[in-house]
Amino acid sequence: MRSARALIDIAALKHNLDVIRRLSPGRKVMAMLKANGYGHGMLRVAHALRDADAFGVACVEEALELRDGGIAAPIVVLEGFFANREIPLMAKMNFATVVHHEKQLKALEEVPCDPPLKVWLKIDSGMHRLGFAPEAVAQAHERLARISWVQQPVGLLSHLACADEMANDATTQQLKLFKQLTKGWPGERSLANSPAVLAWPETHFDWVRPGLLLYGCSPIAGNVGADHGLKPAMTLESQVFALRHVKKGERIGYGAAWYAQHDTVIGTIAMGYGDGYPRHAPSGTPVFINGRNVPLAGRVSMDMLAVDLGPDSREQIGDRALLWGPELPIETVASAVGTIAYDLMCAVTPRVPFFSVNE
Ligand SMILES: *Cc1c(COP(=O)(O)O)cnc(C)c1O
Repeated sequence: MRSARALIDIAALKHNLDVIRRLSPGRKVMAMLKANGYGHGMLRVAHALRDADAFGVACVEEALELRDGGIAAPIVVLEGFFANREIPLMAKMNFATVVHHEKQLKALEEVPCDPPLKVWLKIDSGMHRLGFAPEAVAQAHERLARISWVQQPVGLLSHLACADEMANDATTQQLKLFKQLTKGWPGERSLANSPAVLAWPETHFDWVRPGLLLYGCSPIAGNVGADHGLKPAMTLESQVFALRHVKKGERIGYGAAWYAQHDTVIGTIAMGYGDGYPRHAPSGTPVFINGRNVPLAGRVSMDMLAVDLGPDSREQIGDRALLWGPELPIETVASAVGTIAYDLMCAVTPRVPFFSVNE
């Protein structure tokens, strides 16, 4: 059996939810499970996080997968419905919809449903990606209040663009506008994503919406999850399955892109871009083997990658190689690769078998 595998630490997921509860005491937690639970397996994560107050997904397909998997908790669909026929389905399945656009609002006015649908009005407070513009918010709110098949009062939601930058005034501006626009309205409010849960307590309101923190990672550049007391939920590991001595000057892999600057030992690991390990990881990207980080050597292939174990290597075939996990934070790998932890964790492919541990 090929040794590439992902281990999902159930106790770590629960621990991270506890950390979030301590950071936002008294607030409700909408645990973000979109994109297959950030690549961890949506149902596995939902069952681990039974104590969350609601789950957040991107679309109705994801919400249905949760219901089919036995999840009874409230589910919020963050992009809302794409087609009118989803409206009665969402009501029936107890999914809350976000309404972010005039077209959705109009559809909701025209398509009745039973029981009444829970709605979050999405306000564009400055990210300019989704949501009603400030000058259109009051009218949208009024129209929602008049729809008899919408649960009243509607929730009020916006998203922060720069909460991971402590010194960026944009968050303060967004917060100010969000408060102004929703002043005096009775609905529940939600603004905080992971970086805001950590760094912007004044944005916590009624519901926080953490994603990345649940998976044990830091959204703040230069930090890792452990800096905030979080535990990484995903370990991506494999084994050394070939070893060879190479002489100074010998080249490794496709394009002969790397050469040995001195005699050394090269280990080949069963992990490649066909498993979701990033192909653009440069030589030097760390891989953890036998208590130390060793550098990636040459291009990542579809099924394997090579590392420079050094001339004194005592590695044996079958030794465990960790691509990321507790001993090598995914944030460190992401930064070496020029991307973010979100991207790496979402990219692990279905070829890799997943196992739950610490249940
Ligand atoms: C994905 C998402 C979040 C969670 O973001 P993190 O940075 O992972 O905490 C929160 N709100 C919305 C609207 C999202 O799409």
